[in-house]
Amino acid sequence: MNKALFLAPAIAILLTGNVAKAEAPGIDKPIQAATAAVYDLQPLPLGDFTVTAYCSCSICCGQWSDGTTATGKRATAGRTIATDPEVIPAGSHVAVYYEDGAYAEYIAEDTGSGVNGQHIDVYYNTHQEALQHGVRAAQVYLLEE
Ligand SMILES: [Zn+2]
Repeated sequence: MNKALFLAPAIAILLTGNVAKAEAPGIDKPIQAATAAVYDLQPLPLGDFTVTAYCSCSICCGQWSDGTTATGKRATAGRTIATDPEVIPAGSHVAVYYEDGAYAEYIAEDTGSGVNGQHIDVYYNTHQEALQHGVRAAQVYLLEE
């Protein structure tokens, strides 16, 4: 009896959390609009991420500041992101819905010692642009071709 009473509130919280996420406004529609023409499969939700930004300068990359990514590709603004490969494998296409309403698609082409877990680092051509991006929250989806 005591055990059942203890578990009940935890289950209620879990259920409430799921419902709130499924009904998040503005999430379902843009995904379909943005991906229907290009992708056959439904995007796979990866959850809430922290999205930061970097460039190839020595401030952002230290000794690795030559613009070449961990996958050997040239970093490209508007496409290249650094990810934790355990969370988003190299080569993955992802859709990023920023909490301010902005939307972007990127390709995981880089990694970084500071990029772990639910964290994406977006590549920019200049340090100024990276600073302007700042630290932002987003919902991230894995796109499968
Ligand atoms: Zn920089």
